[in-house]
Amino acid sequence: MNETEQTLKKLREKIAYHAKRYYVDDDPEISDYEYDQMYAELLRLEAEHPEWDDPSSPSHRVGGKPLEKFNKVTHTVQMNSLSDVFSFEELQAFLDRVAAVLPDAAYSVEPKIDGLSVALHYENGVFVQGATRGDGFVGEDVTQNLRTVFSIPLTLPEALTLTVRGEVYMPRGKFEKLNAAREEEGQALFANPRNAAAGSLRQLDPAVTAARGLDIFVFNFQEGKLWTDGHAPTSHTETLDRLHELGFHTLEFRTLAHTAEEIFAHIRKLGEARAMLAYDIDGVVIKLDGLADRRRMGEGTNTPKWAVAYKFPPEEKETKLEDIEIAVGRTGVLTPTAVLTPVRLAGTTVSRATLHNAELIRERDIRIGDIVTLRKAGDIIPEVVKSHPELRNGNEKVFRMPTVCPSCGEPVFYDEDEGAATRCTNSKCPAQLSRGIEHFASKDAMNIDGLGPQLVESLLRNRLIEDAADLYRLKREELTGMERMGEKSASNLLEAIERSKGAGLERLIYALGIRNIGEVAAEALAQHFGSLAACMAATKEELVDLPDFGEVTADCVVNFFSHPQNRELCERLTEAGLLTSPVGMPKDDFLAGLTFVLTGTLPTLTRDEASDRIKAAGGKTAGSVSSRTSFVVAGESAGSKLTKAQSLGVPIIDEETLLGMLRDRSATPKQSEAPDV
Ligand SMILES: [Zn+2]
Repeated sequence: MNETEQTLKKLREKIAYHAKRYYVDDDPEISDYEYDQMYAELLRLEAEHPEWDDPSSPSHRVGGKPLEKFNKVTHTVQMNSLSDVFSFEELQAFLDRVAAVLPDAAYSVEPKIDGLSVALHYENGVFVQGATRGDGFVGEDVTQNLRTVFSIPLTLPEALTLTVRGEVYMPRGKFEKLNAAREEEGQALFANPRNAAAGSLRQLDPAVTAARGLDIFVFNFQEGKLWTDGHAPTSHTETLDRLHELGFHTLEFRTLAHTAEEIFAHIRKLGEARAMLAYDIDGVVIKLDGLADRRRMGEGTNTPKWAVAYKFPPEEKETKLEDIEIAVGRTGVLTPTAVLTPVRLAGTTVSRATLHNAELIRERDIRIGDIVTLRKAGDIIPEVVKSHPELRNGNEKVFRMPTVCPSCGEPVFYDEDEGAATRCTNSKCPAQLSRGIEHFASKDAMNIDGLGPQLVESLLRNRLIEDAADLYRLKREELTGMERMGEKSASNLLEAIERSKGAGLERLIYALGIRNIGEVAAEALAQHFGSLAACMAATKEELVDLPDFGEVTADCVVNFFSHPQNRELCERLTEAGLLTSPVGMPKDDFLAGLTFVLTGTLPTLTRDEASDRIKAAGGKTAGSVSSRTSFVVAGESAGSKLTKAQSLGVPIIDEETLLGMLRDRSATPKQSEAPDV
């Protein structure tokens, strides 16, 4: 090993050490600035010396290629779930069962992290595989994504082969930021940190996971060796302490208890601390600490007999209902929302709760000014359970659903068939217009990045747009003239709008927001009729023949296109140059999901020709090499792109190999060696 190689190795160790101080111990020794400098130096050295690449280098946390799908993993040790208990009585019954066999048992009492369970497998001290729990027997291989979790060590200080189990979670702060950003972009919000963590871990593209800031608590040693000298641990506590020593982020706030009183006391303590923690917990796990004790109690059919999970009851609190506000949705439904005196509940501050509809308010006799009981259980949205008439002072007001729309002032209608909804049917209603344009721009519709609710509101307010078609006439000067809109944001928005023109008929129909037409129905319409004009002319008889279309859905389509205002909108969208035919699936799509970068002069094809042929086969081409690149096609005098590909470990192929793939209709190159260039 020469000097530079030594330096590189030392640098990797140093960075791994400081990352642990920061992410696992929460006790950094150096400033972020110093760390960033060290990291930049590592990237520089690694780019210069691709020959000394090491998959366990800290630089390789992110960099895996997007997957087509997850592979299945069979767990060597079954990942059991625990039986739940919901009261101290039930918990006492469990303790009695154990005491009958083991009168002096010690228990580990630990917070139950509300995340999702994974198994991490190390071979000779190197993290080689991470899998989700799945059904307990078979999970999914999410190794690439778990590598992006900074508190998971990529290497251990000793060459141990072992498997541990942990709970991946999203810290609350990260969750709130993520949802705020999604709201801004008009994307659907995650209901709670656990859903967000699950969604983030099951991303096919590890770069997305990396951006989400997941963390992990390791809570069990599954199997393997914890000591190189073969020392065998006797207790759970000993294994966790050892795992902590090896660099794992192990569960905090666990305690060793010997009596029911001690156990109950720790549960109460965790219950009180719950709101202050940086992450969600939904209960407390009580398990035998002695490993021999566990074997003695054994396993039940689905759950072990040596542990239970105590679930926190749904939290309830009293607060004052200050007002009831009405929101008007995209389809004109008026939804009453309770405005509450803010109260801490199950770990979050609650200041609003939906009341669903007027009927529910009447049934529960909820009045403005009432003291109400609010309930929130883990991931459930907060709910106003009941009012307290006995606490009224006479100033409370009975709520009446408005008879006119709070947004446009037009009369509203009560729709008994549709879940007791009150609806504004004015097609020019500003609130509906605003929600409608948000929907038009949303990710699953036209996917106009950056056009979130606030921007839509302000475009409408500034009279720059009146409907979705106006988006395509926006001018740069108009945008930059708006408050808080810089040159860069304006350019990005205009680009996103321009890009959306090619979204295709499927998305366009969905984006129009026709009642009862979701993504699947929109696709069926697009595929069947083939053009927007044909959809507009479709008759009810034709529509009911479509798969899964009933009378109601068919009526919705016919009604929508019979409104002159909607027809005009469609015509203006067509004039604006939107693609009004389906994008569909490319006929030849064996390269779908793959991205190629072309560099250098190819022997027979021009770059445009090569690019066209890749696209015709469903693949994509890109101008620069990144971790998302699937293949670099290199020709003569290939330059920096080739070097970059080598440093990132992106496969390099030559024209002949590419032509072979196209000929064989195969996404796998026959010859993956780097060409001699
Ligand atoms: Zn209205």
